[in-house]
Amino acid sequence: MNLNSPLAAAIVIVMATGLVVAYAHLFPHMAWLVIIIYIATMVFLSLILALASWLYRKHKSSIDAGEMAEIIENLDVEMIMWTEDFSAVYMNRHIRELLGIKGINFDHQAEIMRAFGIDNANPATIQEIINCSSHEAHFMSADDEPTTIMWGTSVMKRHKKHTLFFSTGLNITELQKARFELASTNDLFNYSMSLAEIGMIMSNNMTDFIVSPETVRMLNLKSSRITLKTLRSLVHPNDRLIFDSAIKSAGTDNNNEVKSIEIRITSADGFYHWYTFRYKDVNHSDSLPMFGGALIDSSQEHEKDLIIERLAYIDEVTEIANRNKLMDLGQETYEQCQMLDCSYWIIVLDIDRFHIINDSSGYQNGNYILKNFANIMYKFVTTGGLAARISGDNFALIMRDYGDDDLPIRTAKAIQDEFAKSATGDFASVNLSCSAGYSKMPKDGKSFLNAFEHAEFALKSGGAENNTICGYEASMHDSIMGRNELEKELALAIDNNELQLFYQPKIDLATGKIMGVEALIRWIKPDGTIVRPDAFVPIAESSHLIGKISEFVLNEGCRQNKLWQKMGYPEIVMSINFTSTDFYQKDLKDKVFETLIKTGLEAKWLEVELTETLALSDIDYAVSQMNKLRELGVKLAMDDFGTGYSSLSYLQILPITLLKLDRSFIIDIEHDNIAYEIVSSVIRIAKSKKIETIAEGIENPNQEDILRKAGCDFGQGYYYGKPMPAEKIEEFFEENMKKTQNK
Ligand code: C2E
Ligand code: MG
Ligand code: MG
Repeated sequence: MNLNSPLAAAIVIVMATGLVVAYAHLFPHMAWLVIIIYIATMVFLSLILALASWLYRKHKSSIDAGEMAEIIENLDVEMIMWTEDFSAVYMNRHIRELLGIKGINFDHQAEIMRAFGIDNANPATIQEIINCSSHEAHFMSADDEPTTIMWGTSVMKRHKKHTLFFSTGLNITELQKARFELASTNDLFNYSMSLAEIGMIMSNNMTDFIVSPETVRMLNLKSSRITLKTLRSLVHPNDRLIFDSAIKSAGTDNNNEVKSIEIRITSADGFYHWYTFRYKDVNHSDSLPMFGGALIDSSQEHEKDLIIERLAYIDEVTEIANRNKLMDLGQETYEQCQMLDCSYWIIVLDIDRFHIINDSSGYQNGNYILKNFANIMYKFVTTGGLAARISGDNFALIMRDYGDDDLPIRTAKAIQDEFAKSATGDFASVNLSCSAGYSKMPKDGKSFLNAFEHAEFALKSGGAENNTICGYEASMHDSIMGRNELEKELALAIDNNELQLFYQPKIDLATGKIMGVEALIRWIKPDGTIVRPDAFVPIAESSHLIGKISEFVLNEGCRQNKLWQKMGYPEIVMSINFTSTDFYQKDLKDKVFETLIKTGLEAKWLEVELTETLALSDIDYAVSQMNKLRELGVKLAMDDFGTGYSSLSYLQILPITLLKLDRSFIIDIEHDNIAYEIVSSVIRIAKSKKIETIAEGIENPNQEDILRKAGCDFGQGYYYGKPMPAEKIEEFFEENMKKTQNK
């Protein structure tokens, strides 16, 4: 009952009194009766009110004691009434059940302390519980479940001795679990991000960025907040443009698409690492950041890309660009030239006699020369240009043309000079030189490849074996094509056995007897045309057909000489000519030895002719090769002596057995005193070194006479006989035998 009895009584009394006053006023003759009735009514009403009030109070007190207690007992919250010494006055069912207390008898202190999640009951702890607006208590429930109660405590009553506290608890176990799960999800998220090494960056305003712990670790940041300025300062200067454009686009994109940029950022180790930043510009809202994404260290991928790029585009030996790179960049540049109306030079370079250096000095040293050459060339690369190794000892340089037509010649010359100067240390005795050919694009070709091939044509047509520099001209195209055709033809000729040896006699000047023949190669075409070696041996040498030719000459020369011996002709020396390619082969000794064994010819009947230039291109290796041949017993002749370096001091070093005085001295010997003086002193010196001498190109008896008197041992020339086929020289043998049988 919620009626306020005294107020109701007062209202009733006021109304009744008003009624009595109104009656008394309306019916004055009945005033006494009204007053009596009024008094009686008042008494009656008072009795009723008193009864109602008694009944109300009685009823009210029954809720406090019974229903209220029951309500509190069963309330869905935890309630404890306790004193400062932790004697519980009361615990409601809810908390009792949680603590596993059966009935209402419990060990107050221990149970309450447990409920508050504390293990000591000192005043400080109590103060903490009381003062704290909410005290979080953790304990294990009767079901052995971790339980969390949030307690609120207030003072209920203060007695003299004790203070009564009233605590209401809210079970937040589920909330706590959710909170924990959230925290652990967050931890788990951060953990997995750190395992995957993925950093997060986001921003709401593009001036301040919030980064994940992994980003902090990756970039060694001081905090999880970083300003745009600081972030930008960490980006590699070359990548700031990309970074800026990503930042600028933030919030402007409505496509909701993921974008990705590759940038270098200073990382924890202090070095730039490549990062892939995958990000999204989000339509700006208050709840979502306007920009956010993941940062992944992609250095390894970049490294892989670099390796792939290296494999595809970098030459392994010299570490400069390779042919692929040259072709790609060359074509790009060619197209650029057409678009921008500019031009570039293409300079191709070839190390002269590299095969000799490589064979003689060994693979390692050969590589060293290539690297050295690449380094020299690399110094001449200008902006937009490139230095590349095309193959073997072939290199190319692309250079922007600024209207200076001398640039390719000047550059090639400078490379030649530097390369020559680099012949020091182990290479001090090696002549390092290179030849160059050049063309201009787009002028000299329909494509880069075409212009490049024209530079190669120019190189070949310049000789390509002797420090030459040659620019491409459309007119040279035909002859180069002719040369290529000749190369193909020669290859066929070798296979079709169109090569044949001719023999030129060598005469002993003292007796007139034939003492040997020089094998000179001829190419007899099917139509009977005879091609002289000067016309095809250099081509064979540059196209590596020379190997086959030399093999044939060595075999055929030995076989034929042995055959003549078997036929009963006087024993003579067979001389064969070697090019540098033949001579510097590592297995030269083995090959010669095998041929001698195979043909049965004694080594002393074989002579190898070498030119000065050949021997002096790498003197140390030349001496060792010569010694190997000498070990076999093979004779060694220095051909064309006087045309090359002509240093008599070499006669002391080179283990030669015969010196062939070049024809150019012999031509002049009759009329030119200087030529005579040279020839006679060379013969004298050679004799002192126990080296025999032969004069080439004797065409008349006068020359023969002068040379004989000068002490020359042998003679060779048209005067005795031109180079001739085997059957012809056999006739010569016969005649010579007849002519000289008495000598
Ligand atoms: P070479 O070894 O100095 O040979 C001598 C050359 O002089 C020969 O020319 C020969 O025909 C020529 N000759 C000889 N006596 C006279 C003369 O009295 N007057 C004139 N005007 N010339 C004379 P050929 O046969 O044309 O050979 C030229 C060069 O080709 C040779 O010079 C040699 O270097 C090279 N050659 C020839 N055959 C071979 C070969 O089988 N292998 C290699 N690698 N080179 C060869
Ligand atoms: Mg010769
Ligand atoms: Mg000669």
